[in-house]
Amino acid sequence: MRAVDLRDSFGRPLRDLRISVTDRCNFRCTYCMPKEVFGKDFPFMPKDSIMSFEEIDRLAGIFVSLGVKKIRLTGGEPLLRKNIHQLISMLSLREVELAMTTNGVLLPRYAPSLSAAGLDRITVSLDALDESTFAAITDSGHTVAAVLAGIEAAESVGLGPIKINTVIKRSTNEDEILELVERFSNREIAVRFIEFMDVGNTNGWSMDEVVSAEEIRDIIGELSIIPPNNPSDVAKKYRLPNGGEVGIISSVTEPFCNECTRARISSDGRLFTCLFSNKGLDILSLMREGKDDSEISAVIQEYWKSRDDRYSEIRSKNSKIEDRVEMSYIGG
Ligand code: SAM
Ligand code: SF4
Ligand code: SF4
Repeated sequence: MRAVDLRDSFGRPLRDLRISVTDRCNFRCTYCMPKEVFGKDFPFMPKDSIMSFEEIDRLAGIFVSLGVKKIRLTGGEPLLRKNIHQLISMLSLREVELAMTTNGVLLPRYAPSLSAAGLDRITVSLDALDESTFAAITDSGHTVAAVLAGIEAAESVGLGPIKINTVIKRSTNEDEILELVERFSNREIAVRFIEFMDVGNTNGWSMDEVVSAEEIRDIIGELSIIPPNNPSDVAKKYRLPNGGEVGIISSVTEPFCNECTRARISSDGRLFTCLFSNKGLDILSLMREGKDDSEISAVIQEYWKSRDDRYSEIRSKNSKIEDRVEMSYIGG
């Protein structure tokens, strides 16, 4: 299929695709999958409603023909998806940058096969270096030491430059900011601090718990802005006095919807054009009904053309979408 210049109703192209490969996770981060909600009786998706690797790869091909340049595999925890390296091998034949976001604890086991299969880059989430703070946030019995071992394993097989994602929540881990910067900034690992977001309905979000990008910058101290390579980069990048880099993702206090070129596909094959959507387009059913690629492409194009999402920009005007989908379902 020939590439088309697809634009949404605000003129934004479609460039980034995040694919959730599972809605399950081995962590129970309090801001994402709180244990009280995602307990042992939680109705995770049944296997037959989850996209197969062939279905994901086929969809990826359609999205690439619509302008997607970067695919990120996420979840849930993507390394819980059995034989994920096989999917990576398939996607690596497409002309896209291929990345993954993971909580990292399974990387010592899987990093070599991910790298061999053609994964380009990895982002590891790590919210604290202090074991008890980490345990309180992730609520699952895993350790900082295990995540650090995962980062080492990824580095050793060349899955860099590695990025670290750190969600900062007030009175929880803002005192970790400087330690994380010190720990990683001289190792060519960029830590990206993320404002706690009101995704989903279960994390009890309140504005009082958001540590703003401005506060994070003040805590870090001397920083100089690095001009963005790509206008759709979600993180604003800064240079540290030692030459290292940090990023800040300020979705709440300094929204960037006008540059948002991202689409997400849940593991049951629904397309979401905003992290805060409450409805998705069921593409998996179209595939399973036997629609061909050009028919599916036409449906996606119409959906993207009508996209008018800018939730973070209008959040401050008290606009509230009810029944938003959860981050673990839509893919962070
Ligand atoms: N399990 C993988 C991980 O944690 O890296 C991938 C999925 S996770 C949903 C993707 C990213 O979303 C993580 O970096 C996580 O910290 C972030 N995230 C989840 N809930 C969030 C929230 N309420 N606000 C900000 N970031 C959030
Ligand atoms: Fe799991 Fe990632 Fe959500 Fe934490 S942020 S619960 S690791 S999906
Ligand atoms: Fe994109 Fe929606 Fe986030 Fe705005 S709120 S940046 S449109 S995902």
